[in-house]
Parts: sequence; C-alpha cells; structure tokens
Amino acid sequence: MALPKTEIIPCDNCYERESAGSCGSTRNCLACGDVEGKFDVLFSRVRAIQKKSGNFDLLLCVGNFFGSTPDAEWEEYKTGIKKAPIQTYVLGANNQETVKYFQDVDGCELAENITYLGRKGVFTGSSGLQIVYLSGTESLNEPVPGYSFSPKDVFSLRTMLWSTSQFKGVDILLTSPWPKYVGNFGNSSGEVDTKKCGSALISSLATGLKPRYHFAALEKTYYERLPYRNHIILQERAQHATRFIALANVGNPEKKKYLYAFSIVPMKLMDVAELVKQPPDVTENPYRKSVKEASIGEQIPAPEEDSACQFFFDLNEKQGRKRSSTGRDSKSSPHPKQPRKLPQPPGPCWFCLASPEVEKHLVVSIGTHCYLALAKGGLSDDHVLILPIGHYQSVVELSAEVVEEVEQYKATLRRFFKSQGKRCILFERNYKSHHLQLQVIPLPLSRCATDDIKDAFITQAQEQQIELLEIPEHSDIKQIAQPGAAYFYVELDTGEKLFHRIKKNFPLQFGREVLASEAILNIPDKSDWRQCQISKEEEETLARRFRKDFEPFDFTLDD
Ligand SMILES: [Zn+2]
Repeated sequence: MALPKTEIIPCDNCYERESAGSCGSTRNCLACGDVEGKFDVLFSRVRAIQKKSGNFDLLLCVGNFFGSTPDAEWEEYKTGIKKAPIQTYVLGANNQETVKYFQDVDGCELAENITYLGRKGVFTGSSGLQIVYLSGTESLNEPVPGYSFSPKDVFSLRTMLWSTSQFKGVDILLTSPWPKYVGNFGNSSGEVDTKKCGSALISSLATGLKPRYHFAALEKTYYERLPYRNHIILQERAQHATRFIALANVGNPEKKKYLYAFSIVPMKLMDVAELVKQPPDVTENPYRKSVKEASIGEQIPAPEEDSACQFFFDLNEKQGRKRSSTGRDSKSSPHPKQPRKLPQPPGPCWFCLASPEVEKHLVVSIGTHCYLALAKGGLSDDHVLILPIGHYQSVVELSAEVVEEVEQYKATLRRFFKSQGKRCILFERNYKSHHLQLQVIPLPLSRCATDDIKDAFITQAQEQQIELLEIPEHSDIKQIAQPGAAYFYVELDTGEKLFHRIKKNFPLQFGREVLASEAILNIPDKSDWRQCQISKEEEETLARRFRKDFEPFDFTLDD
C-alpha cells in the first residue's frame, strides 16, 4: 500500500527540504490527531515514515488517545510486548470512559516510550523546545469533571507562563478541542463552523501564549489554517506568527491527514529577526477584532453571558458583610446582578471584570460601574487601578454614570491616602491599551511637593520631546481628546492635569518612569512593571491588607 504523502516542513533555519534538520538545534517532530486506540495503525505508519525520512525526535498526540473499544491492543503496549517506535507524548481524557487510563493528573509513563503529559503544564525538552499542554474539554460548571479544564486552569496556565521573565510566546501548544473562532480571517475550515464549534477558553489561551504551532483534534478532520499574526501591525513590534493545525483521526477511511511532520528550532535559540519573519500568507489574528473590522461592524461574538457571569464574585462574602445598596447580596443570589448590556471586548481582556482573564485576587473593591484592583507589579504596595467593569477603552468613552463613579473612587482614594500621609497622582495612557486603566499612585507627602511632581513630569517630557499641555482643574478630558485619539495625561492631587496628545512612539512606561525617577520616588529600577512582579501569594497578602485598610473608606460597602 502506498503511503499518503507526509511532507517535512523545513524549519525556519533550513530552507531546503533536503537540509531539513541540518542546522543542529532543529527538532523533527510529528503531531497526530485522535488515535482512538488504533495504536498499531499509528505506529506502523510512524515506522514507515522514519524508514523513509529518517528518525524523528518525538510524537505529540492530541485528541482521544484511547478509544471506547476493548483495549486488547493497548495491553500489548502496556505489558511491553509491543513498543512505540518513538518517544510519544499524549494528552489526557476527553470523556468519562477513558479517564481510567490517566491515573496521575501530573502525568506519568503509560507504557514504554508513551508518556501522558498531565492535565496542564509546560514540558521543556532537552533541546529547550517548550511545549504547553492542556488536556480535556472545556467545562464552565463546577465541579469540573475529570476529563475537562476550567477557566481557572486556563487562567493559571497563562499566569504561570506570563510570570516567566520576558515571555515572548511558546513553541508548541497542544489542546484537544479547537479554539473557537480560529477560522476568522483565515482560509476555509471546511465543514467545521468555528464560530459555533470549539472552545473560547482555548482561543483565549492561544491569544495569551502565542504558540508558534498549535495542534488540536476531536473534529475528525484536517485543517491547516494560514499562519496568523500575534501583533497589531503598525502599532506593535513584529512578533512571530502562529500556525494552527487540526488533525483527523488515525486510520480514517477518507484518508484525511492525521499525522503532521514539522521541523522546529526552539525559539529561545533563535535570532529575533529570524523568529519574527512574517510568512507571506500571514493573516490577521482570528481571535482579535481588527480595527478595520470594527469599523464595519463585524465582530467576534462575545462569550456567552452565562459563562461570563460566574466570574463575578462578591468580596463581601469573604469579609462577612452584606452589600444591599447595590443589590449585590451574595447570600440571596450567587450571580449578582450586573448592569445590562455592558460593552463587550472584541477578544480576551485582562480587565473586563466578567472575563476569565481577570486576576481576581488583585481586586480590592467593586462598585456598580467600576472596580479597584492592585496594579500588577505596582510602583508601591498600594498602587491601585480604577477600572470600568465593562469594556471601555478610555475615559472619553465613559457614560456619565460611569464617570460619576470614577470620580467617587478618585475622591475616596484621595481621602484614604491622605489619612496615611500620602497624596495621590493619577495617570491614564490611552495608547496601546484596550481597557481603561486609571493608575493611582500614592506618594508620601514628606517625599515631595505637588510642584516637584509637576516639574518632574514637565522636565522629563521635554527631554523626550513630549509636549505636555497644562489643563486647568475641573476641565474634562473629553473636551480635549477626540474620541479614538491616543493621549496620555497625569492628574495631580490639586486636580490639575498635564495632557499629551500622542501622535506616535509614546514611551509606554512614561508615567511610571517619571514617578520612579530620582526626582520623585528614586526607585528607577522599578520603572518597568515587569521588574516588579511578585508571587501570587504575595499579591494576595497585599490585596488583603489593602482591602482591610480601605474598608472604612470604601463607599461600595455602605448600607
Ligand atoms: Zn475589557
């Protein structure tokens, strides 16, 4: 029987098919769709390919590794009568019937040369190849069955990777379900309607992790999407592209492709210029609404409201206090009421309170339209953000009632910090950010006067040729900034504002840099938030302390 053709895709360093794998650091890998217990079919195929094309380093299996049929075949592998011809890594169960095969949630050897990766995690090969895996299917209901993952799993996986220094992306992402919307802006996904089928949590995971290759299965078909971009053109620095490949089931009668061969050099060993080289057929990111699409009204459907609801939580539950004024009494309703028709983000958002991406443990107060959260990697332990609950890009877009609550939070924070001998400085950067974050940074009164702060901003702006306009107290940013236009402003404790209309290339950390500079806090090494990251436990401790201190001031807790 003639073998269906399996082409080796050369790695980015080896352009000729003949020289694929010749550059030394290249890993030659195979990825496979649902095996469904057809181990003999799979492994004899792998043997044939290796005979023809040379040895591969590893085989990655996504989808259902085990079938529901009797497992006589498996016994032979398990007992060592038969052996996999290649180091094989598999994902866990997608249904109740096969949970029994995966005893150890952290992964284990299932048979010689066959390893279960585990429920979720990162596997780094000796070559430095980084593989992130998430087993099972999506579940939004607690308790999560043994064959599913929850928003929490996706969240913790992302947080884990994001906390690694200078995270750029991962080499390979393995999931069983397809990501929802993956067909957007891409070539046709055939019979699979990616607007209906697949997991939105996987889309959010892929957006956050930026894998170079993402493999999935379960739909019994082969789909290789055109590579997509991970950066916004003209706004962000170029990043590597992602290739999404869905594979069919092993030995399917239609001979749809179930085995995919590729060569890859671990990204950590690659030259940046090489890594970010854009393939000629690269498309827009399917999970992100492009600016152009937004203007013609087409957008990625928002996640189901039900799934969004469960991320609302009531801080009062922990504090043992009732909140009646806002109608969010956790005792009478597990899903507190939320204002109808909250503006929805086009894709995953780290700041929409209803989205699974929000780092809930940093939230310190929740009002009706806004909430307060500790800044991640803050300039100080009490550096907080005022954020709208719904998705608004900037203060210019806020409705009057939301603005009113923002003002209420500002005034309350000023009183709170004043009681601690501090003044607070606010700034907003409506540039390369999608969800409004009003930064509130308290500075000890003894440290410097308001004029010193103002001078520091003006001086450093001049040095960087940033034009700052002085805006009198009580004037509205809305009157100055055009909707959609990028800007930065800082608000001093006197209510006075310094405003800059951003044309291009605004230093993202400007506000922080000034406040961290010698003239003010004198902690220049803290000007980049990524240098200030602490563990989740430490963040939890800081948030608890802030909530406790802020409680006597927090108007959202008033009866
Ligand atoms: Zn948002």
